[in-house]
Amino acid sequence: MAHRVETQRIRVNLRSGQTVTIPGWRVDSGTAGPCLLLTAAQHGNEVQGAEAIRRFVEDAAERLTNGRVFAVPMVNLPAVRERRPHIRMRPEQPYGDARGHNMNHWWSGEKSGNDTARLARAIYEAIGAEATHALDLHCWEKHKAGAVLVRDVPGIRELAGKLGHRFVDIRPPNDRTLGGYFCATGRVGITYEFSGQYVVLEHEVRHGLMLIRNLAKALGMLPGRLSAGHRSVLFSDECESVDVTAPCSGLFVTAPGGVYESVVEGRLLGHVLSDIDLSVHQIHAPTDGYLRVFGASRANCDVAMPGHHPYVTKGERLATVAFKVN
Ligand SMILES: [Zn+2]
Repeated sequence: MAHRVETQRIRVNLRSGQTVTIPGWRVDSGTAGPCLLLTAAQHGNEVQGAEAIRRFVEDAAERLTNGRVFAVPMVNLPAVRERRPHIRMRPEQPYGDARGHNMNHWWSGEKSGNDTARLARAIYEAIGAEATHALDLHCWEKHKAGAVLVRDVPGIRELAGKLGHRFVDIRPPNDRTLGGYFCATGRVGITYEFSGQYVVLEHEVRHGLMLIRNLAKALGMLPGRLSAGHRSVLFSDECESVDVTAPCSGLFVTAPGGVYESVVEGRLLGHVLSDIDLSVHQIHAPTDGYLRVFGASRANCDVAMPGHHPYVTKGERLATVAFKVN
């Protein structure tokens, strides 16, 4: 039986006296169960989760058996409209220079705070307070594999392992993130980072959709078996990783392949073309494992193009291979 998808419009009063309206969806199975909050784009350049949520809501409308789904695909809509991580940023301003506007430091918001805190508060009051579980979707830069981020709480750790994603990072508690606030208030909060900012990539969206479906299935909200996804799940506290660094300066040209993939020791990862004598230096995997980072990238590459440049200096990181330790 199909359920109605209700569109909710959350009005936020800004300091200027203007208002902004954040749209969200609600789907109610009509049967008791968990109340799952799905959010994306707290940072305006991290938009892949919005499309994964849209597809999941369609699915939930057809198949939700228990509980309710609340979804806000563009939580920080003003930052999305400005096409930057936070509101009111200059070109190339680093993420960390947020000036109080990093929304994921503000949960559960402040009614009389700055505009970012007001957005968080309005969204929390409208739909967050009722939720029993939260999955908050972000994106890392494209060279870095996506990851499920959780704190080391037994039930949550187990749930994270069921989502079908290769990398699960155990993070120290931070009660001001959306996921952290849910944990701090005795609920389940999980954060997921897609790979790739400023883009919506079909393979990443499909993978994110699988994660949301697996979470809903694990919570008894959707029928069916969990998808296997990445069969081997690596918890960060059960892993080690090795950085592969540039033997000289030059252009790093990657071999075919990408993050998440398994590699065997000695596999060709690419080469560096020296800018001194034009010699070619092959780069090989130092150990068996999985590619956690692949490609030249450096600080601030989430907001400035030079951070993506394949020109590397000697010793710069080219890749990171993660592997399980026994
Ligand atoms: Zn983010």
